[in-house]
Amino acid sequence: DELGISLTDMAMMAPPAPVPPPRPSARQIVSIGTETDSYAFSFHEGELNAILSKVPPGWKVCVVSVVGAFRTGKSFLLSWFLRYLEAHCVRRGGGGSVGSDAAAAADDDGKRWFERVLTLNQHEGSFDWRGGKERNTTGMWMWSDPYFLPRPSRGDEVAVLLVDTQGMFDHETTVGLTAAIFGLSTLLSSYQIYNVDKRIQEDNLQQLALFSEYGRMAFEAEEKAAAMGISEGDGEDAGESEKETGDASSSYKKKVPGKQPFQKIEFLVRDWQNFDTEDETDIAAMEAEMAAYLEHVTAERAASDLKETRDQITSCFEDVSCFMMTHPGFGVIKNKYEGDVSKIEPLFMRLLDRYCQRVFNTDGIDGIPPLEPKTVRGRELSAVELASYIKSYALMFEE
Ligand code: GDP
Ligand code: MG
Repeated sequence: DELGISLTDMAMMAPPAPVPPPRPSARQIVSIGTETDSYAFSFHEGELNAILSKVPPGWKVCVVSVVGAFRTGKSFLLSWFLRYLEAHCVRRGGGGSVGSDAAAAADDDGKRWFERVLTLNQHEGSFDWRGGKERNTTGMWMWSDPYFLPRPSRGDEVAVLLVDTQGMFDHETTVGLTAAIFGLSTLLSSYQIYNVDKRIQEDNLQQLALFSEYGRMAFEAEEKAAAMGISEGDGEDAGESEKETGDASSSYKKKVPGKQPFQKIEFLVRDWQNFDTEDETDIAAMEAEMAAYLEHVTAERAASDLKETRDQITSCFEDVSCFMMTHPGFGVIKNKYEGDVSKIEPLFMRLLDRYCQRVFNTDGIDGIPPLEPKTVRGRELSAVELASYIKSYALMFEE
């Protein structure tokens, strides 16, 4: 008062308090059900755009998505993906220092990335994977922050996004909605993981054939609309992509457009019980068994309906593969499980480590093709293009 400064003046002089960046978390990009219509499909464009805006302009985006039945360990897997990415990325979009520090620390104490995680709950804001949670929400989630992975052979980096789905095949979600969620996640991903329990069953193949056909129909309808110039999204993108492909970036890859509309589908078999390999450290021998199993399952059969199912899948995806994980141990599936990593079976962790290396390999390892950016008709999409691409399909499913 004596100085003639009122409290309001002081408040105006004080520097604005820095707003801390929101904690990384899974953001819902599609939700099912409103107060009036429990089957309504809603797309949350703002959430998607907020994530994609964290990708630097012109960068390519890889989208890894996990689909499959309720309570088959999808979110648990994704929470491990996050830890792997935290330990191996160059940096995370949206702030926070991760990656190289964690990798360096790993070298210091001689431990692998997963051996340095003591409890899964330690890492706050992880994909909500804990057991005992009811399905109160159905839809699709995308991790709030892209992770940037190096591609040493090309000298560049790609952005990686993770997508989780909830509420498929749970007897409460209609076939139509399940098909829409499956179709949309297939359309937006460059690497689709189909999580299945214990083995690949004929009905898993039939569902995949049906839902990928649904995705393909949407894709073709949209392509037709774009060709006729009535798709706002694709029209705007043309200039953008011209700019990007023109920048002589050596990473730009133009694949010969295949006839398949989608890139990769991988069956991830959980709780596999039938490895013949007795040496529990011989992961390569187990991977040979996985390949042989897929070969056996997808071998052409005489019965024409089985053959049609397989043809349908191979005509939708450029690449079909299989990986298997064993049971994580009964300590993990107990209701009281607190995330203690020492309770997880060592073989599960070795397979998980190998699986993460395979999924997030950006340069190709052991003859396994590298993680690809999302492409449409053989052309890699930038974040801006991916946003309008996803939007156009999401709106189609909203109708
Ligand atoms: P989601 O509904 O598919 O996302 O499944 P969650 O990741 O939420 O996992 C459901 C329950 O299964 C939890 O209690 C997990 O601890 C447990 N779980 C996670 N991974 C596996 C697995 O590979 N096998 C088995 N049997 N249970 C698992
Ligand atoms: Mg889940």
